[in-house]
Amino acid sequence: MIKYGMEGKWGVISGGTSGIGLAVARNLVREGATVCLVGRDAEKGQKALAELESGEGEALYVQADLSTLEGCRKVAETVGKDGKKLDFLVNSAGLYQEKTLQDITEDDYNRLMDGNVKSTLFLTQQLLPHFADEGPSIVNIASDAALEGNYGCSLYAAAKGAVVAFTRALALDLAPWIRVNCVCPGDVDTPLVQKQLEEGGYSLESMASVYPLGRIGRPEEVAHVICSILSPLNGFMTGSIVPVDGGLTAK
Ligand code: NAD
Repeated sequence: MIKYGMEGKWGVISGGTSGIGLAVARNLVREGATVCLVGRDAEKGQKALAELESGEGEALYVQADLSTLEGCRKVAETVGKDGKKLDFLVNSAGLYQEKTLQDITEDDYNRLMDGNVKSTLFLTQQLLPHFADEGPSIVNIASDAALEGNYGCSLYAAAKGAVVAFTRALALDLAPWIRVNCVCPGDVDTPLVQKQLEEGGYSLESMASVYPLGRIGRPEEVAHVICSILSPLNGFMTGSIVPVDGGLTAK
């Protein structure tokens, strides 16, 4: 088993009840960390907790809609209750939508910006007073769409581009206290991509065909990179934007 040096650490994973966030939680709980999963669906939350129970560490679930400041405050209140200081935060909550500019509505704009940018910014802001004095680490999740153009996703690209810019600026503001980095996955086999395939009407094979590695990613592959970035063994890295995309943006 890979050791990230996260035994006994405590932190929050937004969107941690599925996909990439849940894969991160599995790694950390297995190693003896305690994670607070945040999501909107209580049933999904309980299912994730039941799965994580077999690990060395512990997990708890907070139900909150992070696209509202109120939801972000609720997480901070829960986390702040026992006074134990946070070692990490993974901002994995997010959503995808494919639409051409002509069809994008104000409601689409609010959903995509609030669900990807506002959630990341205000959850981080609300949790800030609860971080440990020594060595905490934040990982934000953007996308390959933040780094290069792609078809039909200009709004999502704008939102994830904001997450990249936020990461860089925040890394400066919080240094040398908290390291802040960002992972930019390509397509990864999670519920988000399953929905994208259903709604987009294209096949997994055609999605995979654009990748130099010939396939899309697995959540545990992205989780491994996130846990490596969170790790105290990685103390000299901040403000970095890290693609995990099977070579997609290397072209
Ligand atoms: P996912 O849908 O499995 O996980 C995202 C989770 O965030 C879901 O559980 C969802 O319910 C939750 N969430 C969304 N909005 C929320 C809100 N307002 N409040 C609370 N929870 C909320 O998908 P995933 O692939 O694991 O996505 C994780 C992150 O990775 C997202 O930010 C996504 O944009 C990003 N990403 C994913 C891919 C991919 O191909 N899967 C590629 C690039 C970037």
